[in-house]
Amino acid sequence: MTPQSEDFSAWYNELVIQSQLVDRGPVRGTMVIRPYGYRIWELLQADLDRRIKEAGHDNACFPMFIPESYLKREAEHVEGFSPELAVVTIAGGKELEEPLVVRPTSETVIGEYMAKWIDSHRDLPLLLNQWANVVRWEMRPRMFLRTTEFLWQEGHTAHLDEADAMRETMWALQDAYAAVARDLAAMPVVPGEKTPGERFAGAVRTYTIEAMMRDGRALQAGTSHYLGTNFAKAFEIQYQDEAGRLTLAHTTSWGMSTRMIGGVIMTHGDDKGLVLPPRLAPYQVVIVPIGRKEQGEEAAAEARRLGQAIRSMGIRVHVDDNRPQLSPGFKFNEWELRGVPVRIELGKRDIDNGVATLARRLPTVEGQGKEQIPLDKLPELLPGILAEFQRFLYDRAEAFREEHTADVDTWDAFAAQVAGGWARAFHCGRTACEDEIKAETAATPRCIPLDAPQESGACVKCGQPSAYGKRVIFGKAY
Ligand code: AMP
Repeated sequence: MTPQSEDFSAWYNELVIQSQLVDRGPVRGTMVIRPYGYRIWELLQADLDRRIKEAGHDNACFPMFIPESYLKREAEHVEGFSPELAVVTIAGGKELEEPLVVRPTSETVIGEYMAKWIDSHRDLPLLLNQWANVVRWEMRPRMFLRTTEFLWQEGHTAHLDEADAMRETMWALQDAYAAVARDLAAMPVVPGEKTPGERFAGAVRTYTIEAMMRDGRALQAGTSHYLGTNFAKAFEIQYQDEAGRLTLAHTTSWGMSTRMIGGVIMTHGDDKGLVLPPRLAPYQVVIVPIGRKEQGEEAAAEARRLGQAIRSMGIRVHVDDNRPQLSPGFKFNEWELRGVPVRIELGKRDIDNGVATLARRLPTVEGQGKEQIPLDKLPELLPGILAEFQRFLYDRAEAFREEHTADVDTWDAFAAQVAGGWARAFHCGRTACEDEIKAETAATPRCIPLDAPQESGACVKCGQPSAYGKRVIFGKAY
């Protein structure tokens, strides 16, 4: 595998295939998610779905074919999405009267039904979520990060007024997405607002969580949009208020996708391969029995017993006991490549001594190596070891981000900073100025961080007064 330092992109492209997360799909830009990769998605999905439901949302499923006319009802929306649409014009052997768009996102079709289901203020808020696949014809596809078909959830909600819709927008951003990134993916994120040039097509305000990858680039890991009354107007999502007046609802939408898996790979991975945070690891622990013939049999039997004891602690464990043709060294490398947090090696001598050998995917303190742990203590020690590993990954990623982020106030310092990290800089807020910055450095405004201190100064590019009362984070992005 190409080392990260030599060519980060090549490292990533080779790793996703070699670690058996995905295979290339038959159509350009598509991917086959293999069981090992899909399990990561399932773990993320289960946690996010629980949060969504606990906050009062219900799951539904809308059709994947959307009449083209629906998209055209919201002018900005159709303009933004047009270049990415896949459109069906022939079906059942006949030219269709109206072309059908394969859903790129579902504001339009869900808006149509919200209008039908909402009459009175008592019907609000209407809190829907959908788990689905969507299609966006991407020009620069990358496994997980930007595929033409991807899996996601899309929340769609309707509210009485702006205040309630904004509370929802912030709930999705902070309590759903930032929390999942932090708690499951061990990925520190900066929640913030997008500048107007980076807004979702049809949104009034777009919020994002931005994470830094190990090459210093940014990944937009989830977005939450306050749509104002734009879609309510286009689809007549209205309610009778308490005085009987017909009033437009305020809507939101928010999405997190399989891109998160790419984020996990690029936040934690190294030259040996994946490093999976325990809470998203298909196998949190792998046991490799060591030895040939009878000794190997004995080790395998003990490994299976140990596996049962570990499983009963609620830990996802895999016993690598049916590949005697492969050497222990080969297996160790393979499980390292596939990012398993903890490996347990078990040979005859270990068993005779009543111990097992434990190796973490990465040392959590300097100088840490393999450890011998009494077999009878191991199952109860593992939850703590895994939790510590999870925390270690988060802290390491956060320290990396801090080391690669700086406040800059001159153009030269800006250009140098975004070459390998993030710059916090003042910006005038003009989209034309953003475009110039992008043309010269490839960096884009990632977000206006919610928790940044109030400050103002001169635009780092053009010198005009800053627009947002805060510094904006700029960086190259995926
Ligand atoms: P959006 O509806 O454009 O706000 O997208 C919601 C989220 O889906 C984004 O924040 C991304 O994390 C993710 N996403 C967008 N496009 C893609 C894509 N082509 N492949 C994978 N994930 C995507």
